[in-house]
Amino acid sequence: MDFVEQLKSSIDIVKVIGEYVRLRKVGSTGRFTGLCPFHQEKTASFNVYQSRQFYKCFGCGVGGDVLKFVMEVDGLTFPETLKLLAERNGIPMPKRAEYADPESKLRGVLFDIHTIASNLFEASLRAPQGVEARAYLERRGVTPEMVQTFELGFSESSGQALVRRLAQERFTPEQIEASGLVRKREDGSGYFDAFRGRLMFPIHNESGKVIAFGGRAMREGDQPKYLNSPETPIYKKTSVLYNLHRARDSMRRLNRAVLVEGYMDAIGVHTAGVNEVIASCGTALANPQVRTIHRHADTVIVNFDPDGAGANAAERAIPFFIEEGMHVRVLALDGGLDPDAYVKQNGAEAYRTKLGAAGGYFYWLADRARAKFDMRSADGRMDAFKFLQPAIQKITDELERAAIVNDVAGYLGVDASLVLERFRKSANDRRPEAPRAEPRPQIPALERILLNALISSEEARVEILPRLADSLTANFTTREIFITLRHLVHDGAQPDDGPQTSSSAALFSAVETRLVGSNQTLLHEVIAADETGDGSFSLEQARSCLRRLELDFQKRQVDQLRTRVRTAEREGRVEEALGFMAELSRLERELRVAKGG
Ligand SMILES: [Zn+2]
Repeated sequence: MDFVEQLKSSIDIVKVIGEYVRLRKVGSTGRFTGLCPFHQEKTASFNVYQSRQFYKCFGCGVGGDVLKFVMEVDGLTFPETLKLLAERNGIPMPKRAEYADPESKLRGVLFDIHTIASNLFEASLRAPQGVEARAYLERRGVTPEMVQTFELGFSESSGQALVRRLAQERFTPEQIEASGLVRKREDGSGYFDAFRGRLMFPIHNESGKVIAFGGRAMREGDQPKYLNSPETPIYKKTSVLYNLHRARDSMRRLNRAVLVEGYMDAIGVHTAGVNEVIASCGTALANPQVRTIHRHADTVIVNFDPDGAGANAAERAIPFFIEEGMHVRVLALDGGLDPDAYVKQNGAEAYRTKLGAAGGYFYWLADRARAKFDMRSADGRMDAFKFLQPAIQKITDELERAAIVNDVAGYLGVDASLVLERFRKSANDRRPEAPRAEPRPQIPALERILLNALISSEEARVEILPRLADSLTANFTTREIFITLRHLVHDGAQPDDGPQTSSSAALFSAVETRLVGSNQTLLHEVIAADETGDGSFSLEQARSCLRRLELDFQKRQVDQLRTRVRTAEREGRVEEALGFMAELSRLERELRVAKGG
């Protein structure tokens, strides 16, 4: 078995995908479903088939094996995916694992550079030069355990520490520059560290690798106060959330996420025992981040800074979540405190209580509106309602929308019926949910069941495949799949070691990788329509499918011949007609025998 097959057979696709998507088991079959991470949807059309170790989305059409999933969801190349899954599952990589394609190579180097930088920063924080940063952390109540958990560090002020360290590792200047962690001097005389004299927060991707840093200035007057890594081949700001790799298990378990703004907020809230906390890290929230959160939880509690900028950011974030079909609550802490300061002042218990009591976003928005407009006049009250309209309009469920309109109208003291009328009008120009489901191809049931049986059962393959005539399969919708399967089994590529399921999963994936375009989609359909759900087909089922397919085929041939006889007779071609008749009676005899047997 080659390394790729070995890796795939030792991991379970349901477990791997389950770390990215909340999956629900469907009945007693080996099928799981959840919200597709690759397109925006509110009802689950994403399926994972355990027995085939394969996933398929009927909304956007994507499908494949565990490697393809991780590649696409984490944005990795194929070699990187192998490395990641091997590391995570303690499977040693083959010696010659140095992959040559330049993209993987550079990204691999960038991951290495970030790991080295992170270790260097951590060491500097413990060293004498880290004294200011340590004092700052102590003032902010960050314990040594938290420093360790969050891998906090310090970038020393000389501007040469990282440059020197990376030069020792023999990285090329191009690689070092591509990391975004060092900069070239304008006069071209060398490089200097991008982060100097800053408290360093490593930023991880979803699988836990350091891909960037945020740095907080430690000296009064150093600008900007917070500095972030630039985008690099391993860091895309719009899809990264701070602390996600630590929070995602809790998010799925509790089905909620707490979204804060800054690194220190995330650390403070985490200290309060709220592990499902993530931070947007100062960038405006974008769609990919929202979808990432939704993969792990249905409810988000937005707890931004209560100041003007924080409230504006929350106001902008809310419609994204509503549009994504999530439940949004807003926590506004009293005393103008940010989450970190609140936990320090009032304790973990008080914070968790506040969190549990956080109200629906529309009450928070209504309070914002009340503060903005003159609520004593009818016009002011109506303006306040108009302010809420865009957010409320995004609620797709009509009943929920009506209930909220009623609530909020009462809260603001406006006439609910007037307001409902407004919404009824604007409800007409809502846009439909995109993208539309792709049309599902029609595959005859007998072909489908026979294919599933052949992929599942070696017994069936041994007996049935040699009996499949080319003339028979030539008429199949799925003929390419049958041909590919026969070639594979004939070439001995079918792995016969290992338990039944894993070998049929391997055979399936071997067939899948050899098919392209519409034929691959057909195969996905075949597997998705596996009625047993776990590939438990019997030899008897395969035999009966083959029998009926042959019968159908012969009947069609008989019909065709009858037409030919009639045409030849009508056109006076007697010789030809006699020939067709002889063939016809032979076929009819065969058909009678077949039916009898
Ligand atoms: Zn999809």
